[in-house]
Amino acid sequence: MFKPDREQGFAKAALDLMGECNVISTPENFELFYAFVSGENPAITQIMGTAIAAKKVFTPELLQDLRMRCLSGARAALAMEAVGSNMGAMIDDVLAKLETASRDTVDYKNTLSAASGELGGERSPADLRKLVEGLIAATREMEQRTKSLEGELQASSEQVSELRDKLDNVRKESLTDPLTNIANRKAFDDAVRAAIEAVQHDGEAVTLLLCDIDHFKKFNDTWGHQTGDQVLRLVASCLSENTKGRDTAARYGGEEFAVLLRGSGLDAGAHVADQIRQTVETKKLVKKSTGDVLGTITISIGVAQFAPGETAETVIRRADACLYGAKHNGRNLVIHQNDPRMAALETSAA
Ligand code: GH3
Ligand code: MG
Ligand code: MG
Repeated sequence: MFKPDREQGFAKAALDLMGECNVISTPENFELFYAFVSGENPAITQIMGTAIAAKKVFTPELLQDLRMRCLSGARAALAMEAVGSNMGAMIDDVLAKLETASRDTVDYKNTLSAASGELGGERSPADLRKLVEGLIAATREMEQRTKSLEGELQASSEQVSELRDKLDNVRKESLTDPLTNIANRKAFDDAVRAAIEAVQHDGEAVTLLLCDIDHFKKFNDTWGHQTGDQVLRLVASCLSENTKGRDTAARYGGEEFAVLLRGSGLDAGAHVADQIRQTVETKKLVKKSTGDVLGTITISIGVAQFAPGETAETVIRRADACLYGAKHNGRNLVIHQNDPRMAALETSAA
């Protein structure tokens, strides 16, 4: 939700901090410092927090590095720009080659038609011989040009497909959460739009799971943010383990995940949710760097089925209410929209 006072407070704090750190106030730097003071991007909060505490000088290189590592939008935009400008140069090049080729072809055609005109009259054997030799030379030259053009076009087409692969990678990157490597919020929003279409037009059953790690703040406080990040990767892998095909498992926000189950109604969805919950619960956490045993973590999941004609907002709100219900009923729990405990919750809230 937009909260003007809060946002203005962040903006002012960001500018003040930029002053203190002797950082020039460009829009790019502001974006970075704003993300830091608002805490909206945990990776920035952590890396910049460490840099500020260590009184590191924010050199242009460090700032650029931070932007590339933490603002995946910035990274994707830059890569897209590079691919775009290469593609433009590439196309100009191919067009120029084709233009030369067509000019050469016209010259060759003119030589041929001139020759066929000359054939009509009376010719001495010597003249005829000269004519044939001229034709052979023109044909050879055309052959050479066509050959070298073929080679050049082949090289261009290889470069174009290389660029297309790069573009594909950029596209994938812009839809992937860099920490967990599963779909990001943007990819999830796209998948929800497609699901709403399928529910509305094909009557497909689609179910949404909203998952949230239990007592994660305490985990971070105890073991540190980086170990917390490992847990996020682990939960993401549990989601991937239990989904398939046209399903989408995404990082929805900081420590919240969303899963879209295509072709699954409420019962099937709740069943998958419980499998996910159990998979997470049974993983034993070990700190990679030290081998410390960190115990286990649990997640709570709210489950809602898309109704025909409803918006993303209402189904998400319903799943979120179920998630709240799961937390309220003790956590490490799956609750779906028709669970009697939801009715009890509504009665107690009324
Ligand atoms: P609950 O069981 O009610 O969900 O309790 P909780 O502590 O998990 O919930 P709360 O919303 O109070 O805290 C969420 C915490 O998630 C706060 C923050 O430290 C942590 N978090 C959010 N994003 C990230 C991230 O990207 N990395 C790490 N390590 N922690 C994150
Ligand atoms: Mg949360
Ligand atoms: Mg939580």
